[in-house]
Amino acid sequence: MDEVRTTCPYCGVGCGVLAKAGDDATASVRGDPDHPANRGRLCSKGAALGETVDLEGRLLTPRINDRQVSWGAALDHVAAGFRRIIAAHGPDAVAFYVSGQLLTEDYYVANKLMKGFIGSANIDTNSRLCMSSSVAGHKRAFGADTVPGCYEDLEQAELTVLVGSNAAWCHPVLFQRMRAAKERHPDRKLVVIDPRRTATCDIADLHLPLKSGSDAVLFDGLLCYLFQNGQVDFSYLEAATEGYGEALQAARSGAAAIPQVAAACGLTEEDVARFYHLFARTERVVSVYSQGINQSSSGSDKVNAIINCHLATGRIGRPGMGPFSVTGQPNAMGGREVGGLANQLAAHMDFDDARAVDRVRRFWRAPNVASRPGLKAVDMFQAMGEGRIKAVWIMATNPVVSMPDADRVREALRRCELVVVSDCMARTDTTACAHVLLPAAAWGEKGGTVTNSERRISRQRAFLMAPGEARPDWWMVCEVAKRLGFGEAFSFQTPAAIFREHAALSDFENDGGRDFDLSALASLSDGDYERLDPLQWPVTAARPEGTERLFGDGRFFTESAKARFIAVTPRPPVNAPDEQYPFILNTGRVRDHWHTLTRTGKSPRLSAHSVEPYAELYPDDAARLRIADGALVRLHSRWGWMIARALISPAQQAGNVFVPMHWSGQFAGRGRVDVLVNPEIDPLSGQPELKHTPVQVECYTPQWQGFVLSRRCLSLPPTDYWVMAAGRQFWRYELAGERTPAEWGEWARQLLCAEDRARAEWIEYLDTAAGRYRGARLVGDRLDSCLFVTTSRELPPRTWLGQLFSEEVLSAQDRMSLLTGNPSRDRPDGGRIVCSCFSVGENTLRRAVEAQGLDTPEALGRALKAGTNCGSCIPELKALITECAAKKIA
Ligand code: SF4
Repeated sequence: MDEVRTTCPYCGVGCGVLAKAGDDATASVRGDPDHPANRGRLCSKGAALGETVDLEGRLLTPRINDRQVSWGAALDHVAAGFRRIIAAHGPDAVAFYVSGQLLTEDYYVANKLMKGFIGSANIDTNSRLCMSSSVAGHKRAFGADTVPGCYEDLEQAELTVLVGSNAAWCHPVLFQRMRAAKERHPDRKLVVIDPRRTATCDIADLHLPLKSGSDAVLFDGLLCYLFQNGQVDFSYLEAATEGYGEALQAARSGAAAIPQVAAACGLTEEDVARFYHLFARTERVVSVYSQGINQSSSGSDKVNAIINCHLATGRIGRPGMGPFSVTGQPNAMGGREVGGLANQLAAHMDFDDARAVDRVRRFWRAPNVASRPGLKAVDMFQAMGEGRIKAVWIMATNPVVSMPDADRVREALRRCELVVVSDCMARTDTTACAHVLLPAAAWGEKGGTVTNSERRISRQRAFLMAPGEARPDWWMVCEVAKRLGFGEAFSFQTPAAIFREHAALSDFENDGGRDFDLSALASLSDGDYERLDPLQWPVTAARPEGTERLFGDGRFFTESAKARFIAVTPRPPVNAPDEQYPFILNTGRVRDHWHTLTRTGKSPRLSAHSVEPYAELYPDDAARLRIADGALVRLHSRWGWMIARALISPAQQAGNVFVPMHWSGQFAGRGRVDVLVNPEIDPLSGQPELKHTPVQVECYTPQWQGFVLSRRCLSLPPTDYWVMAAGRQFWRYELAGERTPAEWGEWARQLLCAEDRARAEWIEYLDTAAGRYRGARLVGDRLDSCLFVTTSRELPPRTWLGQLFSEEVLSAQDRMSLLTGNPSRDRPDGGRIVCSCFSVGENTLRRAVEAQGLDTPEALGRALKAGTNCGSCIPELKALITECAAKKIA
């Protein structure tokens, strides 16, 4: 089979991928050199896609109450359940919770069924958690949810401001484009505004570690500074905007002068002045913002505070300038286009326009079209908990892990009469709550379109057969719609047919007053759809090749055609730290994982970078709490608690703690951080405050700690702390317990000796006085599994032990090493993996830096290949070189 041109299913950069099925449940992937988003680059996650397409853990057949059934029976059951509940309680008693992982075609039919035919707007998407504040901000300022610019602007900007965006880890290929542009033009500046010193600061000229939640103060202050320093473009204001006076007045009534701003944001006056000066004097400025802005109880205001500064200077819609919201998910933008958010109609139309509701009704021939917004995600799950919503269909997402106050979400699902989950994975925290499971086709098995952060629509194309009975989500939705009596409106046979209708709706009665316009694509043939090249909407007769930028002509989608300034009065986060919960919990992502690990958790090389959920703490805070680096800590909030591994780092701000959001109940016993997160939301966007929850942090001191490496996936007995991660040819389990087993050897045998008892050889070492046990199980001459436990925290490193699993015959030296817990001289421990592409560990890198005097990432690349493929690890390589140099001087 030839390579198929498709799109990465992870982040909103939307990189093009050339993919080909392999012979052994893998696929080969490489970056598409012709895709405008990435021009051949891929990050570590994209590069490892081929390792994640196997069938391990897949949901392959429909199931009702854990019983395998036919598709017909499952679809009949879903339709009957929805029909019964709608008849008894009305359409608002049912809901869909969908996902930025869906393709636009899946999204379109789900929205059409709920809003057009069931007659409720209770369909919301997990993109609510990611960028709905940007949607609200765009609509207030521009009259439509329009991203004005494109990725090339980041290469043309003389100043790039990254606000609440760790692009190096969360949008890596975009970050690499910025890095390359900066290398070509060293005089260009980059400012990072983030409470943490993240990997993105690697290329920053200035880092502003502002106080959590104070972004609107900083940008209101900038608006005042631009006025005071004669940098406002009054002719642009006059011609293209309205509301400047009110916005400036609101800004001036707060912390208007630099000393006040600096005090309110916890920054130095020099740093604030430097940032303001850079912004004021530079014409080509792009402000990139992401979850650090959006995930806030005042996220919409923060978005508008940023946009206000671009409007005041007229820096929008022209090359190298503009506010730029980058989305987390691969198709968050597609969801916005079809109306996947509960407060939007389809094709960027709104409920507050009665003509739009009527237009959609006529286009769909849908007499029952919803006329008012539905419940947004947090309110939707609350309504389930209160029994107001009785049936929900969850598509391609895992809210029991990713929603704030996640334990309440699980309880809410348990209260529902009918929970339907369509997913490609059989076992997730959310599928465990389902009455009906529908097997969904995964990435590589289905076709459709996605839209990235720069409005670029790209095709995802199938290159693998869908396994078992897996089917695309659009097909399931249409089949349920037919069973509900709406067959005519859902008679689509292909994604192409859905796309044509989606494009036609964007064109319907659109006289140019609506931004989202795919009119030139409304009559694509199936062949044209198959061949569709990536292009940016709007795509019209006048612009058949798509549109790079909007608003360059100073005309917007408001009634007056002018952009609106929004008066922003900064509000602090809703829940402030106090004596009981003195730390601010900030959640986010790690470099090599995606969402709730259902896909990246399968890849050994991606799992090796961050093995366990961690709590990143400032050194003084850790010292005060007597928490050592690598110790276990317990975090509590008013909503829940978790256990994580302490990571002590000066990159963290004092009084703050950062915890990644990825670990689910499938991969960790107590690792779901969102059980702690407050469910406060932005009143306008409904986006939850995932970056600011007051928490307590304390030492967690189990009686014993240990780890297991095993070729087989184990059934763990109840264990107080456990985390599971994929390794090459083994699974790794980190364990801790509050009660020491009476007899370690017996405990170890029970855990590891399920199979092949007769052939297994057992070697072990016990030091009762030192509280140490080591056991290894060999089958034939190969290592099958090994277990190390201790009542102290001293355990051997794991990387060299992992290497033993690739040996067909363990040498006498290796056997001895297993018992002593020390790597032999010819098998030094590589340490925690830094470069995922070439599996280069921290210890290997340190040794090379120290022994060979390597002092640049390029030199490390030449010596060890580290950082020479996707480049995602370069900031860490630089940090390691700096650390080694500092040690040498000390
Ligand atoms: Fe995929 Fe990485 Fe590109 Fe994002 S940056 S789309 S995760 S390859």
